[in-house]
Amino acid sequence: MTRILVLPGDGIGPEITRATIAVLEAALGSSVTFDRMEIGEASLRDQGSTLPPAVLAAIPAADGVILGPVSHYTYPAGQPNPSAALRTGFQLYANVRPCRSRPGLSILPKPMDLVIVRENTEGFYADRSMHAGPGEFMPDPDSAFAIRKITANASRRVARAACEIAAERSGRLTAVHKANVLKLTDGLFLREVRAVAAEFPSITLDEVIVDAAAALLVRDPERFDVIVTTNMFGDILSDEASELSGSLGLGGSINAGADVCVAQAQHGSAPDIAGRGVANPVSLILSSAMLLTWMARRRDDAALSEAARRIEQAVDRVLDDPQSRTGDLGGPLGTDAFAQAVIAAL
Ligand code: NAD
Repeated sequence: MTRILVLPGDGIGPEITRATIAVLEAALGSSVTFDRMEIGEASLRDQGSTLPPAVLAAIPAADGVILGPVSHYTYPAGQPNPSAALRTGFQLYANVRPCRSRPGLSILPKPMDLVIVRENTEGFYADRSMHAGPGEFMPDPDSAFAIRKITANASRRVARAACEIAAERSGRLTAVHKANVLKLTDGLFLREVRAVAAEFPSITLDEVIVDAAAALLVRDPERFDVIVTTNMFGDILSDEASELSGSLGLGGSINAGADVCVAQAQHGSAPDIAGRGVANPVSLILSSAMLLTWMARRRDDAALSEAARRIEQAVDRVLDDPQSRTGDLGGPLGTDAFAQAVIAAL
């Protein structure tokens, strides 16, 4: 029996999680059970913490985790960001974010079909880069500093994850960086990516500076197949790619480590539309399908990978029809009605 731990999160989290579980249940039947635990504002209210210790204890015992978006920007000071805590606590070093355009949805003149592999445990995220003490500090009231942490180990392991994905696709890997300015940190990142890529004879590596990459995503998305980059660049570029593909609500995403994988939508908790039943659940549905594929590989489970493939195909079929899209894509459907359309397509 496969057990998936579900953490619905804040804002639109509970709505899109409910829709996602309905789709997974339809695809998987009774072979999977879903254990639900509260995090974020719900657990803060009931248990005094946005990330209760019981949740952290339950994660290693689960076969996979589905994490809804969290409103950490507005948490009271001192409350943990569950998303960051899981990424660093369980060393979920590779954030894998595929993005592809679909006919009639993308605003791009040319097709896009790429995967962004983002380093997920260090970089410019000052709230999680230090062993002790904050990575941001103010020596006086009018000066503020943030530490960017890049290590050979984290660069190497995310490069390996990206190379493995690239080797299964076209073999084209692009390292996105800002080594012209961040000479030491991105210099180290590039050194490690080059060394790992050299171990893969089928891979051709090129290197693009991040500002040019942002422009090229719009002008010439076909130029990219697999992108490997540091944490914040990957965060920003993947939101850009996702929106270019039609909506922030479309891109799947997993946070993968050696033994734990967390499916998590690319977008945030969208408090502006929360509770209205209008959010697009595609990002979390596709993230969960990616989680099934990750689990299927580890266990050599053909049924799980077939379920993931069927979910992805069903989502594509439903998105093909403008009348079965959600509001962010100009369609008439709400979150639950969209999930029902995917279930019908399954
Ligand atoms: P956001 O991604 O939540 O929303 C940006 C815009 O996109 C909003 O207009 C929103 O309505 C829209 N949108 C996002 N997801 C959508 C969906 N599925 N369907 C339709 N429209 C959608 O970004 P934000 O407003 O800057 O952040 C809100 C909160 O989310 C903040 O507290 C932020 O810290 C947090 N956040 C969390 C995560 C995460 O949990 N992984 C990621 C990013 C931001």
